Amino acid sequence: MSLLFRSTNGQAPAVNLRDALLIGQAPDRGLYLPETFPRLTPDEIAAFADLPYHEIAFRVLSRYTDGVIEAGALAAMCREAYEFEMPLEPVEGLERVHCLRLDCGPTASFKDFAAQIMARMFGLFLRETGQRVTILTATSGDTGSAVAHAFHNIPGVRVLVLFPFAEVSPHQRKLMTTLGENVRTIAIDGKFDDCQAMAKRAFADPALKHIPLSSANSINIGRLLPQSVYYFFAASRVANRGEPVVFSVPSGNFGDMMGAVVARQMGLPMKKLIVPVNSNDAFPRFLETGRYQKIEPSRNALSNAMNVGHPSNLARLVMVYGGQMDETGRIHKAPDLTAMCRDLFSSSVSDERTREALRHAWTKHRLLVEPHGAVAWQGFLDWLAVEPLNGAPAVVLETAHPAKFPEEIEKNLGFTPDVPPALAAAEKLSEDYDCMSADYEKFREYLIAKHAR
Ligand SMILES: *Cc1c(COP(=O)(O)O)cnc(C)c1O
Repeated sequence: MSLLFRSTNGQAPAVNLRDALLIGQAPDRGLYLPETFPRLTPDEIAAFADLPYHEIAFRVLSRYTDGVIEAGALAAMCREAYEFEMPLEPVEGLERVHCLRLDCGPTASFKDFAAQIMARMFGLFLRETGQRVTILTATSGDTGSAVAHAFHNIPGVRVLVLFPFAEVSPHQRKLMTTLGENVRTIAIDGKFDDCQAMAKRAFADPALKHIPLSSANSINIGRLLPQSVYYFFAASRVANRGEPVVFSVPSGNFGDMMGAVVARQMGLPMKKLIVPVNSNDAFPRFLETGRYQKIEPSRNALSNAMNVGHPSNLARLVMVYGGQMDETGRIHKAPDLTAMCRDLFSSSVSDERTREALRHAWTKHRLLVEPHGAVAWQGFLDWLAVEPLNGAPAVVLETAHPAKFPEEIEKNLGFTPDVPPALAAAEKLSEDYDCMSADYEKFREYLIAKHAR
């Protein structure tokens, strides 16, 4: 029997992992979540201490793939997807505090962890069903490059990435525009919001019904489950058997932190899950007041991948805590706020505090972080100011490589970070992309013409 996934809106049939992955968003506009979370025993978790990352990934993910992906195939996917490093760097001057660098994948952001395995699962399911899909993604930078790299050369898949030309750095752009083959990128003369609106209209457009469109965005359950693995991995390296760990996760759409929540539901002991945000502070306000008010329009902050005014994954978090929130952010049933405040801590980190944290981490602890990691670091310090660590192990996540933000590092620390090989390689390749105004009719014609070929 396959594990089933139900929608947070409760109005769609439960489906297995294959369907949840291919559908993305449930037909009732809710997000898929497992009906029950599979539990790992303390013995099973303790055994992770001696295993490489890809083997931990296999043992965690295989709890969700029964009847959908054969064990040998899953093990092979995990081996191929996780060939890169995941360094756990001790923070100088603080006992048992580590930085988990999730920035060594092919596009130097943590989004590689989910995209790499999700693309392989997609490829397998498409082979089995004989389907072909076009993955349509609007990006402000990191998602587009992670998705484009992961789905590059996956048979049955065509990738289309819309990006706002003026808002994406040359580093980020080159990671998407130098791939070719089944990956096509379109530079939009507009803002990220325009790109997202164009993609959303295409998904709902009856004139495009004949084109099988799919999204690989962060609400897909296929992006969420793999993000639970690095919490198990980090705990297995820094904690003793059964010892609860503190994690600090810089949060925007709350997909990364939901990975931690999934890990906890599966049995990983946690002392506190810290979820700092930038000036988009809807969540810390909710924890404080019990009232949820999304930020509209979202605020622009230095940690640009976290500029999210209404985190979609809150619907999942609310459900885990016994409540119900719809896709617009309306709460139909209140979650257990007391339990949420016991398990979670959140603070809002302004750009000014982000820069201070970036400098503080480097000068006090020789810890090099970029703006997203700096938000995680400051959130950790904010929590330390109200609750003692008491010798517990703590892990602060760095979600992008500092070399992606050379100007900010240079301005605050006085040097430019080394560029990792993955980024350096893309710099040398030639670019190829289409340009378009933010005009939906034009985009529709483009899609129809491309599909006919
Ligand atoms: C996407 C992203 C985040 C935010 O992750 P969420 O899952 O949206 O909360 C943080 N840092 C970086 C570098 C990102 O690309």
